[in-house]
Amino acid sequence: MIVRAAWILTMAGPPLADGAIRIRDGCIEQVAPWKAMRRTARETVIDLGQALVLPGLLNAHCHLDYTDMAGMLPPQRQFTDWIKLITSAKAEWSLDDFRRSWLHGAAMLLRSGTTTVADVEAIPDLLPDCWARTPLRIFSFLEMTGIRARKEPRQVLAEAEAVLHRLPQGRCRAGLSPHAPYSTRPALLTLVANRARSHGLRVTIHVAESEEEYQMFRHARGPMFDWLLRNERDMSDCGGITPVQHLHRTGLLGPHLLAVHANYLGPGDASLLARHSVTVVHCPRSHRYFGHRPFPWRRLLRAGVNLCLGTDSLATVLKQGRHPPELSLFEELHEVRTRQPWLGPQRLLRMVTVNPARALGLEGQAGQIIPGAWADLTALPAAGVRFARDAWHAAVEHRGPVLAAFIAGIQVWPAADPVPSRSPLTLS
Ligand SMILES: [Zn+2]
Repeated sequence: MIVRAAWILTMAGPPLADGAIRIRDGCIEQVAPWKAMRRTARETVIDLGQALVLPGLLNAHCHLDYTDMAGMLPPQRQFTDWIKLITSAKAEWSLDDFRRSWLHGAAMLLRSGTTTVADVEAIPDLLPDCWARTPLRIFSFLEMTGIRARKEPRQVLAEAEAVLHRLPQGRCRAGLSPHAPYSTRPALLTLVANRARSHGLRVTIHVAESEEEYQMFRHARGPMFDWLLRNERDMSDCGGITPVQHLHRTGLLGPHLLAVHANYLGPGDASLLARHSVTVVHCPRSHRYFGHRPFPWRRLLRAGVNLCLGTDSLATVLKQGRHPPELSLFEELHEVRTRQPWLGPQRLLRMVTVNPARALGLEGQAGQIIPGAWADLTALPAAGVRFARDAWHAAVEHRGPVLAAFIAGIQVWPAADPVPSRSPLTLS
């Protein structure tokens, strides 16, 4: 099969005008100008016309199971109050509510061009059933918490590993997610770090998300410190260190780690993250919902940290106008461009393609349109794009559903009608 389009952004070189991608057995075999591609009579050609094709996007942080909590939880003055709010909302939900919500979120990601997602799973019972009900590539990170002495970290890890072992590893994969430094015990983080290194697992954790978390570790005070102390957390790991330094002390920093948020950094934290090849995931709309201090873009970029974007969950996305919010990396890109216009489109697109592929150990397989990679593609309308530089802008400025999305060479969006009669998609 060959996919032809007016523009191809391979993310491995300059935009390719009137390009073609040959796909065989779910992978990309060749990328070339249309005119240079020799075709056999039996090959199917999907001509996308005046479209722009880029790699299927990778969402580096999501909670699919909270999708239907969109608009349910108003922002709170204190982060700790928000945690209490979502905890009580979750207690009201049945397994079916979570399942519906998870699948609803997966459908939103597909229609907005995401083909791989790093998802935190608070409800492991949804797997692997939910995996089988979406064509998305899912990296499911099994959430672990536990602050009280009566549940040993070894037991917390053993429970997550029991789930890990029963999950098939194929299109979808599993990893570990200790929830955050404040909601876990240091011994658990060390156990997870050792397991990640010995078994080649990916790990994700929320870190330095709020001012309260920073205060708790740095100064052993504040609303989060007081609340957790009342809840019998051993607070002897607090005082004198930043949340990032806390992770370093437990041994969790490493190339296997996707550190989510990292909003509140102390001096030297950015270079500590870079030195250990940690990936940092920024969730722009969630950041705005909580009204955090500006994200430390320049410090992290200067340090050379691998930066990615994530949607987080819709529970922390504010409604805009009358439209209910959707999970979409294009909306996250829009939010960043609004606040940080100095970040160029190429750099931003890397944060949803090449960089997350590296974070998930998928270099050469995802995030680029190159021979040998999976044929995961996103097509966008590109009316009026005449020059290569316009192609970058058209890609980063896109909003709403994509024209088409492919995973392993199979069109997954639009799903019901693979070739809508009035779209620019034509089969020849
Ligand atoms: Zn999150």
